[in-house]
Amino acid sequence: MKKVVKFGGSSLASAEQFKKVADIIHADEERRYVVPSAPGKRFDKDTKVTDMLYSCYHLAEAGEDFESELAAIEERYQEIIDGLGLAISLKEEFETITENFKEKAGENYAASRGEYLNGIVMAAYLGYEFVDAAQTIRFKDSGEFDSELTNQILGQRLADLSHAVIPGFYGAYADGRVKTFSRGGSDITGSIVARAVKADVYENWTDVSGFLIADPRIIENPEAIETITYRELRELSYMGAGVLHEDAIFPVRREGIPINIRNTNRPTDEGTWIVESTCQKSRYVITGIAGKKGFCSVNIEKAMMNSEIGFGRKVLQAFEDYGISFEHVPSGIDTMTVFVHQDEFMDKEQKVVSAIHRLADPDSVDIEADLALIAVVGRGMRATRGTAGRIFSALAHANVNVKMIDQGSSELNIIVGVADEDFEAAIAAIYDIFVIAQL
Ligand code: ASP
Repeated sequence: MKKVVKFGGSSLASAEQFKKVADIIHADEERRYVVPSAPGKRFDKDTKVTDMLYSCYHLAEAGEDFESELAAIEERYQEIIDGLGLAISLKEEFETITENFKEKAGENYAASRGEYLNGIVMAAYLGYEFVDAAQTIRFKDSGEFDSELTNQILGQRLADLSHAVIPGFYGAYADGRVKTFSRGGSDITGSIVARAVKADVYENWTDVSGFLIADPRIIENPEAIETITYRELRELSYMGAGVLHEDAIFPVRREGIPINIRNTNRPTDEGTWIVESTCQKSRYVITGIAGKKGFCSVNIEKAMMNSEIGFGRKVLQAFEDYGISFEHVPSGIDTMTVFVHQDEFMDKEQKVVSAIHRLADPDSVDIEADLALIAVVGRGMRATRGTAGRIFSALAHANVNVKMIDQGSSELNIIVGVADEDFEAAIAAIYDIFVIAQL
């Protein structure tokens, strides 16, 4: 068995956290490939090393003095090195970084140094080989991640190594220029490494014990999700359930490698398993609830719309022409509603409305703002009668007016639209009926 283990920034924020990580790695000899993030926050008001690197580089780029800011970053690593009693020195590395900052090596290069240096420290601490991601993870000239070439290069490089540390978050173009993934991208690196070594499990260690059924800022102490499928997770993370970078599932998903989200501070918790498919029933009919505020709906009415061929296309054309993506399009006989992100839509609304009139000749167009969408997700819904009914009676009891309902054809989710101000009450009502009432 082989396991790839990725540790997030808060798991590596201090020497103390590093020691917990080493204990976790040593507790299971299958944990052989390690992907570290850069040191994160040690306490609430602390700054992540990645953010320090960005601001330090912006000073360098503006021709201002950046050396004291860089010294503060060096200090963070030195504290970890000293706390671990390691004999290594990053002095030369920081000299190189200083030179490269002076030569304006770019923001991507700057940000990547957080993971690069942490990888060096981690490799020294564990006695594992350090494999630089700039030499093994490739981007195409277009900026897109080159999955196949990477899999080949990284697969070959790791084939001879029984243990290795590969820093997260970045790779490079063919000419060696460093490029990072988007923020939180070390999760993606972990997944890429898991695919390259054909791991049995990709363990992603963070500071929570997995995904929760609902957002803890809304529901006090929500239950954790034990097992979730990739498809369910897509629905939930699209609607804002954080923890794992959205793109991190793709490399492992194609190989059927499960992801196990674990908590570095509570290593005995089972965490959440993310799997391709499962016969395990979720404890409740629903697997999770997530949602977002800040949508608006554009309601288009036209008598006999249902029999007019091409009406929907013409309406959507108006959105496309102004570069606006739509989220949901529920429709009735004479009405069609298009849900869009309010902040994207606001500046262009009048242009889009007049384009709808020009292209589709509707009877009326009316806009409603400040709406929230809530996704109730669960593979168990397909086999359970009355799920939608329960959601709506719960919302009615909570005095929440439902503005929109959309059930995906997969029967994996039901999306409910409510006013922004009803968002929290709606989530609480749905959680109550499916989780609390079942306890
Ligand atoms: N250090 C990077 C960030 O803060 C990447 C990561 O932690 O995954 O976004």
